[in-house]
Amino acid sequence: MALIVKKFGGTSVKNAERLFNVADIITSDYKKGNDVVVVVSAQGDTTDDLIEKAMEINPKASKREMDVLLSSGEQISVSLLAMAIEKLGYPVVSLLGWQAGFITDSNHSNAKIKRVETDRLQNELDKKNIVIVAGFQGINRYDDISTLGRGGSDTSAVALAAALRADCCQIYTDVDGVYTADPRKVKSAKKLDEITYDEMLELATLGAQVLHNRSVEMAKKYNVDLEVLSSLTRARGTKVKEVVKMEKMLVKGVAKDINCARISLLRLPDTPGIAFKIFSKLAQKKINVDIILQSVGRDGDKDIAFTIPKSEAELAVETLKNAFDFLSDDRIICDEEVAKISVVGAGMETHPGVAAKMFEALFEQNINIQMISTSEIKISVLIDAADADRAMVAVHDKFIK
Ligand code: ADP
Ligand code: ASP
Ligand code: MG
Repeated sequence: MALIVKKFGGTSVKNAERLFNVADIITSDYKKGNDVVVVVSAQGDTTDDLIEKAMEINPKASKREMDVLLSSGEQISVSLLAMAIEKLGYPVVSLLGWQAGFITDSNHSNAKIKRVETDRLQNELDKKNIVIVAGFQGINRYDDISTLGRGGSDTSAVALAAALRADCCQIYTDVDGVYTADPRKVKSAKKLDEITYDEMLELATLGAQVLHNRSVEMAKKYNVDLEVLSSLTRARGTKVKEVVKMEKMLVKGVAKDINCARISLLRLPDTPGIAFKIFSKLAQKKINVDIILQSVGRDGDKDIAFTIPKSEAELAVETLKNAFDFLSDDRIICDEEVAKISVVGAGMETHPGVAAKMFEALFEQNINIQMISTSEIKISVLIDAADADRAMVAVHDKFIK
């Protein structure tokens, strides 16, 4: 007998037929004598639809109220799934985030889980109930509802698996595993049998939405046995783990992130402390800066360019303009039509030439590189958003045959 945590994403529970399909997967594990805890996302496009509704009323709605609204999507899906399981004749209970003990910080719309108080959950498992938990949500110290950021149900599932010391955490989605690139965008993408936590964390952070990046971070920290698989095919999926079999692949995957913007600051005074002053202003506003590029100073001037999440571009420009008199309109340029393409693989650390090969793929497509950033296991380039899909395919096919 095992304790299994399963998570089903929006498409896996989008209508009655899919809900019964999921109910069948859950009860077939329960029938074998396992304890089963299930995390569910909102059905289909519910979360997007709720955001649209909010925008009609108030595009500047507070994050607190947005969380109250968005968490309702998961309230619908947990109750419907529990009803489907009741209909199949099994004992089941649905719990919202707060009932399942998810305590988070107060960073509404992107809250972090501080702990999961599992007493109620354990109690329900002791009663032999199948427990269905609303993903993506928790409660802060003031008893206010919080949400964990888009895609956050994956993190709810891994947090539960860690807190309950579950034997495994299975993330069911609409593809049958983690691929070398988004299989919907790159036809030649290949399914991976396994991938390391570190590689998966990079891919998720760099735009592969198949797993929420915090879920991977947490799985690594608590050594959670994690698998990504399809709710439709029931085939083996992709295992995410600490160490994987040695293979020849230098590059494990290619990811695309279109949620970025580039800000260029032109003709800044070339004096000590300028970078410090600029980036501490951004840090005060909790704006996350990614790639930074500084030109060589000439004639007492230098340029600095950097990337940030697109959603923070407006705030960044406003903050910098207000803080620095020398940043007149013609000296601060914000470009939101950019994309970041990254290759990830633990093998590249010890192999020269990976960057050159990536740049060659882009050159062959006549795609211009605006910025470059590297670490031991990834190389990212910033390019024009219009070139992103073409670049993904070209870079992918260069490395993965
Ligand atoms: P869910 O609703 O189940 O959480 P998501 O839409 O969040 O599903 O994530 C699954 C999607 O992630 C897939 O449909 C696929 O298009 C996309 N995706 C992006 N990169 C990858 C990748 N490397 N491997 C698999 N899927 C990926
Ligand atoms: N329903 C939330 C979203 O759409 C959380 C999730 O699906 O993981 O982002
Ligand atoms: Mg998701």
